[in-house]
Amino acid sequence: MKICKLCKKEKELINKSHILPEFLYKNIYDNKHRYLEINYKKDGYHKSSYKQKGNYESDIFCKECDGGIISKEEKYIKENFYENIRKNITQLSKISPNGLTSEIIIDLQRLKRFWLFNLYRMSLSNLHFYKYINLRNKEESLRKNLYENHVFKRNEYPVFIAICLPQKKDGPEKLIFMPKIIRSRENGYQCVFYINGILHIIQISGHNPDDNFLNKWDYENSKFNFSYFPESEFYLYANVMSGLKIY
Ligand SMILES: [Zn+2]
Repeated sequence: MKICKLCKKEKELINKSHILPEFLYKNIYDNKHRYLEINYKKDGYHKSSYKQKGNYESDIFCKECDGGIISKEEKYIKENFYENIRKNITQLSKISPNGLTSEIIIDLQRLKRFWLFNLYRMSLSNLHFYKYINLRNKEESLRKNLYENHVFKRNEYPVFIAICLPQKKDGPEKLIFMPKIIRSRENGYQCVFYINGILHIIQISGHNPDDNFLNKWDYENSKFNFSYFPESEFYLYANVMSGLKIY
């Protein structure tokens, strides 16, 4: 018997826990069920060779945590966020001073919990692909908050999302970038990950939250706002993922 890394109880642990949910990989597989990863080297980012499945680890969570608590959030967010955001893009979208944006009505607590479960699992993971994500002394407080269903406030772990609008088949929406923690002088540490054509940025240190992040969360109306960017701007956004801030 081992200790589950969510409930901290001594339990039998399952041998296949996904780090990022499998549904995020759905659109990035090619017809041979392979995908390309982008890894970082000293001089920037590089495409990997083709990868097969392998985004899971054993002995992290018990069945109740993985298949219960975490799966429940994944299912809700898959159906209510990821399966919706690409539908009716023209109908939903409006041109704002910041470009093409859209909004979705959703349970914001569950949306944040979902992204924080991803952050927590990436931090726990020993897979090479997640080696840059380590929450260190924040990991335990995040675990406790997730397990106890803490109601995250507006300025706790705000998240920013930008979606790539594909222009050609097999463009950058098919890539997955190695998740990374980047640091800016104004906003502290941010976890950046790109998968399924979506750039996700989670602000980790809360003492000086970025307004660009906070104003995406409309708690009064249960609305989350996000942006789109054309594929032609993808490599500009890729600079964010390697540490250069542009948003
Ligand atoms: Zn557990």
